[in-house]
Amino acid sequence: MRLANKVAVITGAASGIGKEIARAFAAEGAKIVVADLDGAKASAAATEVAGANGLGVAMDVSSEEQVEAGMAKAIATFGRLDVLVSNAGIQTVAPLDQFPFDKWKQMLAIHLDGAFLTSRAALRQMYKQGDGGSIILMGSVHSKEASVLKAPYVTAKHGLMGLAKVIAKEGAKHKVRANVICPGFVRTPLVDKQIPEQAATLQISEDDVIKKIMLKDTVDGEFTTLADVAAAAVFFASFESNALTGQSLNVSHGWSMQ
Ligand code: NAD
Repeated sequence: MRLANKVAVITGAASGIGKEIARAFAAEGAKIVVADLDGAKASAAATEVAGANGLGVAMDVSSEEQVEAGMAKAIATFGRLDVLVSNAGIQTVAPLDQFPFDKWKQMLAIHLDGAFLTSRAALRQMYKQGDGGSIILMGSVHSKEASVLKAPYVTAKHGLMGLAKVIAKEGAKHKVRANVICPGFVRTPLVDKQIPEQAATLQISEDDVIKKIMLKDTVDGEFTTLADVAAAAVFFASFESNALTGQSLNVSHGWSMQ
């Protein structure tokens, strides 16, 4: 039980990677707060993964008001906060010269404003408690590499690396650590949606999108799994000293070796 008596807030955890992290944290003894857009879905996921030790909260991570209210509810319910996983995210693909400005702004708001707002609320509570904490930002191989059609996503995921390093420096004296997980492609709704979109934009088959684009640079042509990413999250969440802070970990079948 590597996370016994810990309380974790995980954003975007009604689906995909976040939900699997919530499940893995619960299995390690943590109390789980699933924060997601739809409160009913968040509650259902929280109950599914953690039973009575789970709480769902409705939260749009790009809204300061909703983040403040959701984090306050999480802390009021479980009495403390030890781990934040800022994971909520979306994807929109289009060539840069045709990228709609409103979609660009939405992407930066969810990935960057969301990480800032949830981290700020978590830091305030962790500093008050005085016994440290772990902040995990969900980056991507796109925190280090670029791909066509993904300008705001690549920009935002690179930005999270900077945010984590500043949290690591400011949080150090409070024993608050910040790290970034950089997964390769994982089959979640976010990725399943991109396959036909990229095939249409690039005028190639869906099979070619998978083999010639998504998995082209991996060492073995394999997707990363939900369990792979969740294991990395448990590692960062349960690592107890500042020896591991301001770091990023690729979980990508060698797609990125940076
Ligand atoms: P997903 O679509 O399965 O889940 C994303 C969740 O985020 C959904 O439940 C959605 O409702 C929620 N969400 C979206 N906007 C939100 C908002 N404004 N406020 C709160 N919640 C919001 O996607 P996923 O693949 O599990 O992605 C999770 C994270 O992992 C994202 O940050 C994504 O960029 C990152 N990531 C995914 C992959 C991949 O291949 N799937 C690879 C690298 C990084």
